Parts: sequence; structure tokens; C-alpha cells
Amino acid sequence: MIKKVVVESFELDHDAVVAPYIRKAGDKEIPGGGRVCKYDLRFTQPNVEPHLPIETAHSIEHILAFTLREFSDDIIGVSPMGCLTGIYVITTGNIATADDMKEIAVQGIRRLLECETVPGAESSKSCGSYLLHDLEGAKKAAQAFLANEENLLNVFA
Ligand SMILES: [Zn+2]
Repeated sequence: MIKKVVVESFELDHDAVVAPYIRKAGDKEIPGGGRVCKYDLRFTQPNVEPHLPIETAHSIEHILAFTLREFSDDIIGVSPMGCLTGIYVITTGNIATADDMKEIAVQGIRRLLECETVPGAESSKSCGSYLLHDLEGAKKAAQAFLANEENLLNVFA
């Protein structure tokens, strides 16, 4: 029996959101001090548009793991959503708002467009599925995300 807890991500009305968007999805105090925040970078419209191909989501994950850290020391983790419609970014509390995240995300995603290879995908030593990548797919998804830059903070219509 699974313990009944509230998981914020599953409380979100996925029919009501309008992708692409950036949303603050969590903020937790760490025992002993400090905060951890979680952000959604939603790339495709849930259950309407095709989700990101897994190779694309994987390459976005790898690249943003590097490029977001070029613009902030407060990135803790970058990971693909299991539903493949976007990426989670975990940060320290220094990235306190979706607006803060947007500034870093937009710069990191612009850098993605300049990549000529997928970092961390050079060999089986650095990645669990190092052939499961699509740089061109990642660039296409990034372009679609940035095409909506003005509206990235509008989660709902
Ligand atoms: Zn990998």
C-alpha cells in the first residue's frame, strides 16, 4: 500500500496548462538551513502534442546540465520528466522565483542552440545510454520553447 501524500506535480491540472512554460513546482526548507526549489520547464502540451522523443529529452537533459550551470552556481539537478513533456530543474533557494529561473533557462537554452555535440555523451563511460541522443531534435525543441519566450511565465491560459 502506497502512503497517501500530496505530490505537487500530480495536483497540477495538466489539461489547464499551456506549454511551453516555466513554473515553480516546489520549495522546501532543508533541515539545518537553506532551501531547495524545483522548476518545470514544460516543452510540449501535455496529452495534446506529441511528447518529446526520448532521445531529444535525453539530449536536452545533458546539454542543460552544462549550460544552466554556466549561468548559475545554484543548479542542483536537471532531469527529464517521465512523461517526456519537459525537464525538471532542482535549484538552491537562491533561484527563488520562476522569473529568476526564466532568466537562467533562456540563456542556457540559447547556448544549447550553439552546441555541436552533446556533452557527456562521448562514450559509455559518461552516460547510461550514450547512443540514445538527438542533438538536432533538442535544437528543434529549444527553438519552439524560445519562440514563446514572452509567454513562458504564463502557465495557464
Ligand atoms: Zn545520459
